[in-house]
Amino acid sequence: MSVIKDVIAKVKQMDPEQHEFHQAVEEVMETLAPTVDKHPEFVKANLYERIVEPDRVIMFRVPWVDDKGQVHVNRGFRVQFNNAIGPYKGGLRFHPSVNLGIIKFLGFEQIFKNSLTTLPMGGAKGGSDFDPKGKSDMEVMKFCQAFMRELYRYIGADCDVPAGDIGVGGREIGYLYGLYKKIKNEHTGVLTGKALEYGGSLIRPEATGYGATYFAAEMLATRGKDFKGKTVAVSGSGNVAQYTVEKVNALGGKVICLSDSNGSIIDEKGIDDKKLKYVLELKNVIRGRIKDYADKYGATYYDNKSVWDVIREQGIKVDAAFPSATQNEIDGQNAQALVKNGCYCVSEGANMPSTPEAIKVYLDNNVLYGPGKAANAGGVATSGLEMSQNSMRLSWSREEVDMRLLGIMKSIHSACLEASETYGQKGNYVLGANIAGFVKVAKSMLAYGVV
Ligand code: NDP
Repeated sequence: MSVIKDVIAKVKQMDPEQHEFHQAVEEVMETLAPTVDKHPEFVKANLYERIVEPDRVIMFRVPWVDDKGQVHVNRGFRVQFNNAIGPYKGGLRFHPSVNLGIIKFLGFEQIFKNSLTTLPMGGAKGGSDFDPKGKSDMEVMKFCQAFMRELYRYIGADCDVPAGDIGVGGREIGYLYGLYKKIKNEHTGVLTGKALEYGGSLIRPEATGYGATYFAAEMLATRGKDFKGKTVAVSGSGNVAQYTVEKVNALGGKVICLSDSNGSIIDEKGIDDKKLKYVLELKNVIRGRIKDYADKYGATYYDNKSVWDVIREQGIKVDAAFPSATQNEIDGQNAQALVKNGCYCVSEGANMPSTPEAIKVYLDNNVLYGPGKAANAGGVATSGLEMSQNSMRLSWSREEVDMRLLGIMKSIHSACLEASETYGQKGNYVLGANIAGFVKVAKSMLAYGVV
């Protein structure tokens, strides 16, 4: 156990300001404690300390010019964390909150998530503190081009394959790929999340939300339950949230809330497919605020409050929750309220949306809790399928990709469950996901020797 404690202490001491990274390392490392006794060879090779240090961190200046001719500078990041089991793979996030600690936490999580998918992908993450909100299409294009003008040196179809994340959707991937293709004069699968016309995969936009719902359905099935007639809370209103609502509706559940960084809506009647179509238009085309939904459908809008604050303050009953906005959106107090209001299933669409205090509440109360690195792995898994299709220069049908996605989510669920049982805590998906993801990467690192 002191191996684990020493690693956590060293990470905090070396980079004291990287709080989100500390949180991710602590959460993973603490659950890896049982592997220390079972695998003395991992300790001998000092793998626990090696795995928390990225292979490399790339930081760069991104200068760009706005519509008025004013010059701006943002900071770009790519953290290539670990390529033991495959080329680096992980999204790009454009959001003003982005800093090195956040990108490192996301890259670290990505190692284990990608390992869980069963596909050969290493872990990486990147992005910038650029805020796409309120920018014109032209400004977004100029920023994306400036970002790729530097990033292109470090990525490649067999080396590092970025994708989208917060603030990086189909529009941004198009601009990024357009410049890469121009500079390198090659058409390869160097980015995923591309549009269908130029190498994208069917179901990729839907994959994270669908996958988080499939994972929740698997967890519910262990208790003989399903989504029919269940009330569901979803936060965020971006890519992950949108397709979570679609799949929950398809499986017979009723989603009653959505949010964005300005506030939340509660629609007790449920966000049916017609209303969801409007949300997609609002968020992906008009690029408006979720408040407009309340105005259009007579739902209640709570300014400047998260979905989880509203559920606590209003005592709203939900069966299942899908946090799908951002990190640390559910704290201990809001987790307590969720449990008190009847919630017995949490499936994380977002990365690390629950604080350590919230996770403790779920585990203490026997909540079916799918941590992000397992529950939201459908996105990167389908990115892996996009890479396969690009390499083979063919496209699979919608049904084929969806079937593979479902199969992958089922196998991630059973891998987590099996590992939790093997290590004596059956049903603890946090422990199961971390150990199942880690062991494969650790064995590969061991095979390579000290490199
Ligand atoms: P989008 O940019 O499409 O949507 C993000 C949503 O969350 C928006 O509604 C946004 O509101 C809201 N949001 C973002 N930051 C904050 C914040 N600080 N406070 C409150 N609300 C916020 O991103 P995605 O849907 O792609 O990503 C959502 C989460 O899912 C992230 O944690 C991401 O890492 C994770 N994820 C995404 C995957 C994917 O395939 N896209 C794969 C795996 C995980 P606003 O519009 O106002 O900013």
